[in-house]
Amino acid sequence: MTLHQNLIAGEWVGSQAEENINPSDTRDVVGLYAQASADDANAAIAAAKAAFPSWSRSGILERHAILKKTADEILARKDELGRLLSLEEGKTLAEGIGETIRAAQIFDFFAGETLRLTGELVPSARPNIGVEITREPLGPIGIITPWNFPIAIPAWKIAPALAYGNTVVFKPAELVPGCSWAIVDILHRAGLPKGVLNLVMGRGSVVGQAMLDSPHLAGITFTGSTGTGKRVAAASIEHNRKFQLEMGGKNPMVVLDDADLGVAVEAAANSGFFSTGQRCTASSRIIVTEGIHDKFVEALTERLSKLNVDHALKEGTHIGPVVDERQLKQDCDYIDIGRKEGAKLAFGGERIERETPGFYLQPTLFTEATNDMRISREEIFGPVAAVIRVKDYEEALAVANDTPFGLSAGIATTSLKHATHFKRNSEAGMVMVNLPTAGVDFHVPFGGRKASSFGPREQGKYAAEFFTVVKTAYTLA
Ligand code: NAP
Repeated sequence: MTLHQNLIAGEWVGSQAEENINPSDTRDVVGLYAQASADDANAAIAAAKAAFPSWSRSGILERHAILKKTADEILARKDELGRLLSLEEGKTLAEGIGETIRAAQIFDFFAGETLRLTGELVPSARPNIGVEITREPLGPIGIITPWNFPIAIPAWKIAPALAYGNTVVFKPAELVPGCSWAIVDILHRAGLPKGVLNLVMGRGSVVGQAMLDSPHLAGITFTGSTGTGKRVAAASIEHNRKFQLEMGGKNPMVVLDDADLGVAVEAAANSGFFSTGQRCTASSRIIVTEGIHDKFVEALTERLSKLNVDHALKEGTHIGPVVDERQLKQDCDYIDIGRKEGAKLAFGGERIERETPGFYLQPTLFTEATNDMRISREEIFGPVAAVIRVKDYEEALAVANDTPFGLSAGIATTSLKHATHFKRNSEAGMVMVNLPTAGVDFHVPFGGRKASSFGPREQGKYAAEFFTVVKTAYTLA
C-alpha cells in the first residue's frame, strides 16, 4: 500500500505510517498516512514563513490560475474523491460526492475572489493628504480541521488563505487524512511554489499543539470542539496572534402547530440524523408545540423506521456508520444518560450489526425531554435527538435560545409573523425557515454566536476579514 507523506517546503517527507480505517468495515484499511512530529510541524512553519514574502506579493493571475485548476480537478475527480470521503468518514456516497462538489465550488469562488479584492481611497480630514485603505495578507497561517467534513472544511480555509496571499501549515484531523492529502496533492501539482502550502498529518496533541505553541504563525483558523477551541484561543492570545474558531452546536429545530407536517418531519429527520448526526449544524433538540406534538412524533418515528443504516457505499443506505469507536461510545453514553434523566425512548437506542463489521447505531429519538437535561444541553454529535414539548411559539423561542451554543436554528411554520420574528430573535448565526438546520451554501457567510464561534465569519467574501489585515496609509500630496 502506498504511503501518503507530509508536504514540507515542497518535499514529500515522512516514514512513520498510520493506517486509516473504514468505519463501515473495520477490516478495511483505506490508506497509509505518515505521522508528523512536533519537529516536522516546526519545519513546516519555518517553510511557510520563508515562502510568505514572495507569495504575498505574487500576481493575482498566478493565484487565480492555481485555485481554478484545483477546482476543476476536484470536480473532475468528484466520484473518486467522494468515494474516498465515504470510506474514511462514513458519509453515504451521495453525501461524499456532494461535499466534494462543494469543495470544488469553494476553490472556484476563491479563484474569483483573487480578482475582486479592492481597497478604498478616502479624503483626509486634513488638507493635501490622501488616505488609502488596503487589505494585506496576514502571514503564515495555521489551519486545524475536524473529521466531520473531511474535504469541505479544509477547502473553505485553504482556498481563502491562498487567494489572499497567505502561506499555510495545514493539520487535518487524524481520523480523515485521505481527502486532505488529495487536496494538497492537487494544489501542489497545480503549481504552488515550495513552502506556500505545507501538510502535517498527525496527532492533535503533538502536531496541533506544536502549531499552537509556535510564535511564528500570524493566525490560526480552527474548526472542531469547543474544548480544543478554547486551547487555540488561550495559546493565540499568548502569542498575540489572530484566531478564528468554529466550534460545537446544540441547534434547535422548532416545529409550530401551523407547520406543514411533511416539511417539518423532513427538516427534523435531515437535521437530526442525516450524515449520521455528525454535523456541527445538526439538530438534536426538536422543540414542538402542543397542538402538533403527537402527530409530529408519530410521523417522525415512522420516517426514522424507513431509514436504512448500513455500509456508506452500499446502494440504498441513508445513514452510514458513526466515525469511530470513541464517538460511538459517546453516542451510546448519551442514550443511557437520556434514559436515566427520564426522557422516553420513542425510537432506536441500540447498536446494530450489519454484513460488515462497522460502527452502526440506530437513529434514536427521545420524547418528553426537558431543556435542562444533559441530552438537551450538550452536543452529542451522533444520530440521537430529543423532542421537547412546549406550550406556544413564545415558549419555543425561549427554549430555542436557552443554550450555551448559537450556530444554527430552524423553524417549521406557515406563519409569516412567526418566521419573521424567529429570524430576528433567534440567537443563532444561521437561521433556517422550513429547512433543516444543516445544509448551507458555499458562497455566503458561515458561523455562529456564543460558544459556537469566535472571530470573523468563514466562507464568501466575509472570509477576507480573517485572512487579511487592514492597512491605512496617509500620503502628503
Ligand atoms: P476536536 O477533537 O476538537 O479536533 C479538531 C482538530 O483539533 C483536530 O484536527 C484535532 O486533531 C485537533 N486537536 C486536538 N487537540 C489539539 C491540541 N491540543 N492542539 C491543537 N490541535 C488539536 O474536534 P473533532 O472531534 O475533530 O470535531 C468535532 C467537533 O467539531 C464538534 O464539536 C463539531 O460541532 C465541531 N465542528 C464545528 C463546525 C463549525 O463550523 N462550527 C464544523 C464542523 C465541526 P486530532 O484529530 O489529531 O485529534
